[in-house]
Amino acid sequence: MTIGAIEAGGTKFRAALLDHDLEIISEMRVLTTTPKETLDPLIEFLRSGQPRSVGIASFGPIDLDPRSARYGSIVSTPKVGWSDTPLLNLIAEGVGVPTDIQTDVEAAAVAEWDGGAGQGHVLVAYITVGTGIGATWAIDGVPYRGQTHTELGHIPVTRVDGDDYPGNCPFHRDCLEGMASGPAMADRWGTSGEDLTDLRAWELEATYLAQLCRTFTYSAAPSVIVFGGGVSQREGFIDAIRTATTQAINNYAVVPLNMESYIQAASLGQEAGLIGAGLLARSL
Ligand SMILES: [Zn+2]
Repeated sequence: MTIGAIEAGGTKFRAALLDHDLEIISEMRVLTTTPKETLDPLIEFLRSGQPRSVGIASFGPIDLDPRSARYGSIVSTPKVGWSDTPLLNLIAEGVGVPTDIQTDVEAAAVAEWDGGAGQGHVLVAYITVGTGIGATWAIDGVPYRGQTHTELGHIPVTRVDGDDYPGNCPFHRDCLEGMASGPAMADRWGTSGEDLTDLRAWELEATYLAQLCRTFTYSAAPSVIVFGGGVSQREGFIDAIRTATTQAINNYAVVPLNMESYIQAASLGQEAGLIGAGLLARSL
């Protein structure tokens, strides 16, 4: 029996039919344009494969309040045409099988717990740094939710001495995302992350991300913090975050933290979202 998975991204959507072990049987990609143009071919593709269920990993923000009539809808987003799109309902009705939705960050956290860097841990914290900063935690493979998903990329951060970059979050200006997302780095240093070789840039970036590691340590109290997104794959960067987090924690930890195992790079790369969506589908 096959299962269906959709990864909904800002530039493209991926849909896949997976076997029970989450191996990809077939896959299609569609550029993200309007909801109808994007979703119609994906729904057709999934229908033809007759999956028993479908899981969606989507960019947010998404209304995930189970009591809400808009459960599974994209809420307000700068992506033209996508605000108030009932993504879950459109796909569930289109494909006609049990379907549920997680954010892309939640899906990646669960995937890393299941078969990646978070394997063997009860509580996995997950941070991804890209065009935005997404972060959440999962307990036994279930993403934490209050009345909806977390938005930890928007926590306030303490400005590093001498850093006069104003921040680029349209809502909070100098929140974590405003100071440390990919576009914020590019804006501050005048070059994109891949080409950024200035060590000071990466030390500064690690210092801001360490503030979220500290927040995680004292709130969710995870046993591992996994970093996803392209930034985390940069050589030496995880070590820089470990060093900055050690400084941020400053010896105040309830249990001893071995930074080598506490902070890890994600190991599933680009596939984490799709695998997370597959895990969700398999659980339905
Ligand atoms: Zn913000």
